[in-house]
Amino acid sequence: MSKPHIAIIGGGCAGLSAAATLVERGYQVTLFEASAQLGGRARTVLVENNSLMHLLDNGQHILLGAYRETLALLRKAGVDENLAFMRLPLHINMQAAPTKSVFSLKAAQSLPAPLNMLVGLLTCKGLSFSERLAAIKLMAHLKNTDYKLANDTALEQYLIEKKQTKKLMQMLWEPLCLAALNTPMTIASTQIFLNVLKDSFSGSKQNSDFLLPKLDLSRIIATPLAQYIQSKGGEIKLNRRVRNLQTEGDGFSLETKDGKAFFSHVIIAVPPARLDTLAEALPKMQIALKQTQTYGYQPIYTVYLQYPPETKLPSVISGLAGSLGQWIFDRGQLCGQKGLIAVVVSATGAHQLLSHDELALTIAKELSQIYAQLAKPLWHKVIAEKRATFSCTPNLARPTNKTTQPNLFLAGDYTYADYPATIEGAARSGIACADLVCNS
Ligand SMILES: Cc1cc2nc3c(=O)[nH]c(=O)nc-3n(C[C@H](O)[C@H](O)[C@H](O)COP(=O)(O)OP(=O)(O)OC[C@H]3O[C@@H](n4cnc5c(N)ncnc54)[C@H](O)[C@@H]3O)c2cc1C
Repeated sequence: MSKPHIAIIGGGCAGLSAAATLVERGYQVTLFEASAQLGGRARTVLVENNSLMHLLDNGQHILLGAYRETLALLRKAGVDENLAFMRLPLHINMQAAPTKSVFSLKAAQSLPAPLNMLVGLLTCKGLSFSERLAAIKLMAHLKNTDYKLANDTALEQYLIEKKQTKKLMQMLWEPLCLAALNTPMTIASTQIFLNVLKDSFSGSKQNSDFLLPKLDLSRIIATPLAQYIQSKGGEIKLNRRVRNLQTEGDGFSLETKDGKAFFSHVIIAVPPARLDTLAEALPKMQIALKQTQTYGYQPIYTVYLQYPPETKLPSVISGLAGSLGQWIFDRGQLCGQKGLIAVVVSATGAHQLLSHDELALTIAKELSQIYAQLAKPLWHKVIAEKRATFSCTPNLARPTNKTTQPNLFLAGDYTYADYPATIEGAARSGIACADLVCNS
């Protein structure tokens, strides 16, 4: 039998993780990416404003200390974590107008997990004693039940049953749910939310750390992984949309604008909404296709507001209560883009009815009521990712990495069933596909 040659379709975190793992193990790999750039939904874009060019991430990403596979892969690709990320122990600080902190929770630094979180809840500011107790009871219950539910249900319903007050939801659970699942609590899967809590609040206390990119996202993820793949002999083809995929003999024929090429194995690492064109001609892929065709999607809008360079916020990251925006980042302190503020608006909501200019100006106005130093932005840019993530709803059918078509595998955030759409889910799925290729 001739040497395996693996085609990877899609150069996002999942495809890059699969390729990096395979080349490390000595496999011949060719990665096809439809666009001119790697990184998929985690990439940096060049934006022009008044003839000046700015590098902005397509969305402000947060990684967690619990992202063990992503961090291990980046280390392998030569990324220095200290240069790439600002690591912040868990601190949720919610700000509201007029200029005040309405909730603050800091994980207790000196204690192991989950005590760090329990003591953090006990001493947090902005909740009544009975609310703090209700949150602690819930965390203790989750630990005792190993964060497992008998039946998955919508998170809001679950939290009501567990006697979490409106304020607890608004200050604690909703911001965490939106950050982790990018899905409104009314429809979000409780079990997947608990999986993220478990990974963050069990094991090492560093698992709940926030890792905020200090460099452009592409410089941290796509570029180093691509360099690593190429240094080990892997081939990367940009601007190569795979138009058609068919079985041929023991392998697959794959068609791009260059024509057809033959591969022994294929890993499809495209987003779920793009699976249809590739799975069309493959009868054994119809089940996975049917599952993904039922998916709903959630947007993420990132509103960049440029203020004078001396502008500085009290914290690099804060939550926003009672505002259209949910999280605010000071990119000056984070990555040296002085005066640049990024505000994240996750999931579906009223903001989608506004034009980009209206949204930016509405958020700027809200911010000026919380932070006196944010008067009027010099310029703004809204990046709207309409299908940022799949809607992470209860009991969502998720295709497995292994398909019923021999030597054809599925990678992508949607295939890592324990997690919502995240970089870590994508990385774990890519590595799982590489393992399956090696064992095939
Ligand atoms: C604005 C935003 C903010 C986010 N914030 C966070 C966060 O804070 N933390 C976190 O962990 N995650 C976050 N995510 C989610 C995370 O970015 C994604 O889960 C992850 O990047 C998905 O990677 P993937 O490889 O599965 O898919 P993708 O990144 O979508 O990669 C798929 C690739 O396939 C390519 N492709 C499609 N069709 C073809 C074809 N026919 N031929 C060749 N190539 C093709 C696409 O161009 C794309 O590059 C965010 C996402 C967005 C959009």
